[in-house]
Amino acid sequence: MTAQPPSRIVAIYPGSFDPITNGHLDLISRGSKLADRLIVAVLQNQRKQSLFTVAERVEMLTEVVRPYPNVEVGSFHGLLVDYVAARGANFILRGIRAISDYEYELQIAHMNRLLSPGVETVFLMAAEAYSFVSSQLVKEVASLGGNVSGLVPPLVEEHLRSRVAK
Ligand code: ADP
Repeated sequence: MTAQPPSRIVAIYPGSFDPITNGHLDLISRGSKLADRLIVAVLQNQRKQSLFTVAERVEMLTEVVRPYPNVEVGSFHGLLVDYVAARGANFILRGIRAISDYEYELQIAHMNRLLSPGVETVFLMAAEAYSFVSSQLVKEVASLGGNVSGLVPPLVEEHLRSRVAK
């Protein structure tokens, strides 16, 4: 019997990350312990209006994931499964906060399995402390002058403050 090479887990964590929140970061931290390599990938989505450009989001993410040596940051457009193949990944990581996330995520996971049967989507439950945190809500609160410290990394808080001031 020939020995099988050890299988490596290369996971893609895709999203808008507009901007990254502490909920995303918690998922990255936990995901980095499960995967050999974790690639956080910003989706370039022309249909979705964003506060930060893809380059700004990638820059913030890169800074924030610096403490995790097996985590890298990228961006993509088009089909996620094509990006997964291009990066030699075999898992997709997503987070679930509430039932509303579940319904959406289930559809996407089924579609991605149909498009690329070998790729598994793995879900992590949001940390209790961040289960109500979304980029959208953080942006709304920040734009109205509310305090979002503790919900986003300090670097993101600074960027939000200066963007809102403009
Ligand atoms: P998308 O536009 O693809 O939903 P997001 O940046 O909003 O991009 O989210 C990316 C992924 O991170 C999704 O799986 C989402 O459910 C998850 N996520 C978002 N916020 C949190 C959070 N506070 N805790 C855990 N997971 C989260």
